[in-house]
Amino acid sequence: SDHALTYPKSPAEMNWASLYPAYAVKKPAEGEKEKVDESRAEGQVANEEDQRQARSITKDVEIADIGCGFGGLLFALSTAFPDTLSIGMEIRISVTEYVQEKIRALRSQNAENQAYQNIACLRANTMKFLPNFFRKHQLRAIFLCFPDPHFKQRKHKARIVSSTLCAEYAFVVRPGGYVYTITDVRDLHEWMVGHFEGHASWARVEGQELEEGEVGQCVATMSTETEESKKVTRNNGEKFVAVFRRVEDPAWP
Ligand code: SAM
Repeated sequence: SDHALTYPKSPAEMNWASLYPAYAVKKPAEGEKEKVDESRAEGQVANEEDQRQARSITKDVEIADIGCGFGGLLFALSTAFPDTLSIGMEIRISVTEYVQEKIRALRSQNAENQAYQNIACLRANTMKFLPNFFRKHQLRAIFLCFPDPHFKQRKHKARIVSSTLCAEYAFVVRPGGYVYTITDVRDLHEWMVGHFEGHASWARVEGQELEEGEVGQCVATMSTETEESKKVTRNNGEKFVAVFRRVEDPAWP
């Protein structure tokens, strides 16, 4: 259950600096002139804005790997998009800790070139609190790779794609951004396609476009780098891929 999970009350409350320390907003160095806040009496303790600043990072997280598992995709994204901050979100404590530990190790092994500073993993139930982490239109991509299939009819409400969640994904992904899905379960693939196609904010990407540019790179990466995708490849299983573009919000008449 969720009672042990903690969430920021809003995206502004989120302590991103602890996850991406290399991108933390720097406090002025000793002796350097601090930006003077005229409205603040001398000696007054840090105000809310200062506290918020201390938790901030210099660029926004733009890619989310939802249900990231053991982090294979996340590590590949770090290299594929070195200038982008990516976050893995995972509900299982031990799995989250495994990924965090691996990121720590990779960062220290690569200290001289600052590699792997652009990825992090946090524990969350993404079905419930996504807008607590991300502002409206903050993300450019969400990955849903090999989500748990929940085969039985009465378990379908546990799937991480639903009409409600399509709306929530549309809130956090900017127009022009994408949701990438992959699964080896045909029924789940059709379920995901049906829900995204049935939602006005999403249009399916097809044909040549799936192979070109950043979309092509993301499709190739998720098809080979997640732990599940490797397992399916080993077993000669079939992989079903679907990509959806976040379309512009309709203009109000
Ligand atoms: N994406 C990885 C891959 O392709 O190898 C892992 C796939 S695994 C089958 C599904 C993962 O989603 C599990 O690690 C599970 O703990 C996680 N998960 C399930 N429901 C979740 C939720 N509501 N929020 C976050 N993670 C969730």
